[in-house]
Amino acid sequence: MRKPIVAGNWKMNKTVADALALVNGMKAELSAIEGVDVVLCPPFTALAAVGQAIAGTRVDLGAQNMHAEKSGAYTGEVAADMIRELGCHYVILGHSERRQYFKETDELVNKKARAALAAGLRPIVCVGELLAQREAGQTEKVVETQVRGSLAGLGPKDLLATVLAYEPVWAIGTGKTATPAQAQEVHAFIRKVLQSLADESVAQSVRIQYGGSVKASNAKELFHQPDIDGGLIGGASLEARSFIDIVKGAL
Ligand code: PEP
Repeated sequence: MRKPIVAGNWKMNKTVADALALVNGMKAELSAIEGVDVVLCPPFTALAAVGQAIAGTRVDLGAQNMHAEKSGAYTGEVAADMIRELGCHYVILGHSERRQYFKETDELVNKKARAALAAGLRPIVCVGELLAQREAGQTEKVVETQVRGSLAGLGPKDLLATVLAYEPVWAIGTGKTATPAQAQEVHAFIRKVLQSLADESVAQSVRIQYGGSVKASNAKELFHQPDIDGGLIGGASLEARSFIDIVKGAL
């Protein structure tokens, strides 16, 4: 039985003061929800403050990115041990915005995933097709390439510590959501790819989130598809009530 996991990706939003106001407005209610893993992913600058605010609650902390190297001359970058030190247990990797604006490739996502796992972090690895790729009938090919490339060389233990997020790029921040049936189809396909990378037991155990314009009104139906294990939430995670209601949709 997979435990659903809902993560809020705050992207480049919230000063420390704003982040504290948001987390303090939802941590008690979030922490009372049993049966769903909840992860908040504020920007780097707010990780320490949010980490302190959720200490002792059931809510967990994640970063939105990290560098693949352990340390060194990489101005402006942050390493796995640094975010781990701030209390992160998760890190989002290969988000479509990183792939699009920062030219991250599957190879780089794979390097980062290995570095994250080596540091004791659980990567949330994002995959998903562009609208043109869906319209050209390439969704499975694109997603399979991303899953295989991003998870290359990971053994069963590392795969089990990894969370995948299927995020069709055309649904991110657009208000257009994949239908539950469209999302389920791709999630079931990703599980088949996982089976070929490892075995049936690993494929059935890895959690796969859906992301792309999830709101309180559509969360429950999406999260109750057989192969969808919660969600990665952007815009709707920036407001306490909507995020709490989305998390409850995974119950
Ligand atoms: C995301 O950025 O991962 C995301 C799914 O964003 P939104 O919920 O705003 O579509």
